[in-house]
Amino acid sequence: MIAQALTAAVQRLASISDTPRLDAELLMAHALGVSRETLLLSRLDAPIPDTFEALLARRAAGEPVAYITGRRAFWSIELEVGPGVLVPRPDTETLIETALAHFGQEGPARILDLGTGSGALLLAALAQWPEATGIGVDRSEAALAVARANADRLGFAARASFRTGDWAEGLDEHFDLLLCNPPYVETGADLPRDVRDWEPHEALFAGPDGLDDYRRLAPMVAGLLRPGGLACFEIGADQGESAARLFAAQGLTVALHRDLGGRPRCLAVT
Ligand code: GLN
Repeated sequence: MIAQALTAAVQRLASISDTPRLDAELLMAHALGVSRETLLLSRLDAPIPDTFEALLARRAAGEPVAYITGRRAFWSIELEVGPGVLVPRPDTETLIETALAHFGQEGPARILDLGTGSGALLLAALAQWPEATGIGVDRSEAALAVARANADRLGFAARASFRTGDWAEGLDEHFDLLLCNPPYVETGADLPRDVRDWEPHEALFAGPDGLDDYRRLAPMVAGLLRPGGLACFEIGADQGESAARLFAAQGLTVALHRDLGGRPRCLAVT
């Protein structure tokens, strides 16, 4: 029965995952072709689907759940994800919350997402503000293919465009909202095995102190924002001061916002 299979799966995933119960439920729901909510409400006494064991084995070997199911919920949307893009994390929703607090329901008109990956931040913002349009930039063509597919699937193709680029180089437009989750992990730092072995290192590592990309980004901000605009950068929990200093050195005003776990997660730059 499914209930017992889930309990056994939680034990098996405990050493690889911080969220073994959630992982097991998502994989079971995927094997059944139903949502996790449907699984939890009605299916716990049904037989175990044949495909569950293979999915569980992949997770036990470290593969992120989102790469196994090909999907990840983020803000109010669901994104297609695969090995070429960082798995969107709940912490990153802090950037949308920060923008929502700044702009309210009215919203920004024009949005730029630098290092868009799966398109998570741009597409979540377009879902939040139905009148907004925006551009997602990434160095990786593989990531842009995923972001475009997500924009199409969500019905945002007419409001989102994508371009290959090295941060904002060559962009000559101004935006109300700049969103950016750059790499910020110290190169060589110890990451959980499932992150280190599976997720794209170019989206994670940023030099010996993890600040390399903020050093490149900070001088670009003033030239990208419209008057009254806001830039939201994701940061590592211990980078509140060091990253803020780089933006303040450009004459920008910086405020720190915390994620749901109370950790510094977003620099709001104006
Ligand atoms: N929060 C991510 C992690 O620790 C890092 C994301 C990033 O570098 N932008 O796995």
